[in-house]
Amino acid sequence: MDYSPEPYDTDNIFAKILREEIPSFRVFEDADTLVFMDIMPRVDGHMLVIPKTPCRNMLDASADQLAACLKTVQKVSLALLGAPYGADGITLQQFNEPEGGQEVYHLHFHILPRREGDSLRPPRQQGDMEVIKAESERIRAAIEAAG
Ligand code: 5GP
Repeated sequence: MDYSPEPYDTDNIFAKILREEIPSFRVFEDADTLVFMDIMPRVDGHMLVIPKTPCRNMLDASADQLAACLKTVQKVSLALLGAPYGADGITLQQFNEPEGGQEVYHLHFHILPRREGDSLRPPRQQGDMEVIKAESERIRAAIEAAG
């Protein structure tokens, strides 16, 4: 094993979202994790789950950070299946280092709620903020309803 990552950049975009220095549509948080909407959604409802503590990606994350994120991934995913939100399945994505597809260097898991017959949009396309806001409200309500 030889992994020597770049030092964690405290000014990465997700660190700024955590500090509320830039806006985001938050849908859930607990003591250890935050979930907010991706602004370039591959599908409607595309969310990101991040730990509240710093790490670059899955490779340097602690077992506690990984466990906390996956616990939140599962909780949010289960809340979206079926009514009232209406997802039929969940795609989970996670990228590490540039060659692995990572673009923001704070660990994150992509949750993509899937519906029968849908397909992923191309990456890096700015979403419609009104649609993203409306999705965030529906998702927040579904998480609250699931308890
Ligand atoms: P990665 O390729 O690193 O796994 O994905 C980074 C994700 O962050 C992309 O899906 C991208 O759309 C999303 N993203 C980039 N900048 C911002 C931002 O300023 N706000 C939000 N909410 N998402 C962002």
